[in-house]
Amino acid sequence: MEEGIISFAIAQWQQHPLDEFAGYGTLEQWRRILQQKHLIGRDTQGISYGNVSLRHPQGGFVITSSQQAHLPHLAPDQYTWVTHYDWEAHTLCCVGTFPPSSESGTHHTLYQVHPALGAVLHVHNSGLWHYLLGQGWHTDPAIAYGTAAMAVNVAQLYGAIADPFTRPVLAMGGHQDGILSFGATVDDAGTALMEVLPLAYSS
Ligand SMILES: [Zn+2]
Repeated sequence: MEEGIISFAIAQWQQHPLDEFAGYGTLEQWRRILQQKHLIGRDTQGISYGNVSLRHPQGGFVITSSQQAHLPHLAPDQYTWVTHYDWEAHTLCCVGTFPPSSESGTHHTLYQVHPALGAVLHVHNSGLWHYLLGQGWHTDPAIAYGTAAMAVNVAQLYGAIADPFTRPVLAMGGHQDGILSFGATVDDAGTALMEVLPLAYSS
């Protein structure tokens, strides 16, 4: 499955712009850091890669809208609030001007791991991806991103350890160069990623 291809259907869409949400400023600061390091951006085919999200206090999560990740600055209305995600029907409900990121299902999967998990970053980096595969901390390579099977796979991975926050950075085995980082806050998720990134180049 290619980045940018939306695999879910939108069951309900309140198509009006999002107001500024709690944590927006910090999320944008981290997005700029990730862009400077080319962890999010746009590939040679013009496809945006990488996306960020925050848990919403009223349920669901706010995520970068589809195909906006390469832009240097995003206004609040270039984010979309995914209020509900249904794996069985493969549909979601959202509020915003644009459709949510094609990887919304992946982010939803991470939020199910722990109720205190408050932010998810999805980036691309070949060195770190190979490093994490070598460490054995990754989803099943046979499973495509944003699928119900991946949700089950992530639940199994984190169900096997006592504290998910001890392994906050994982590779998506079925998504070339795809990496996920999470934390209680976006600062935690960003810091965890920055801490592990040099390991990919140290050997
Ligand atoms: Zn990706």
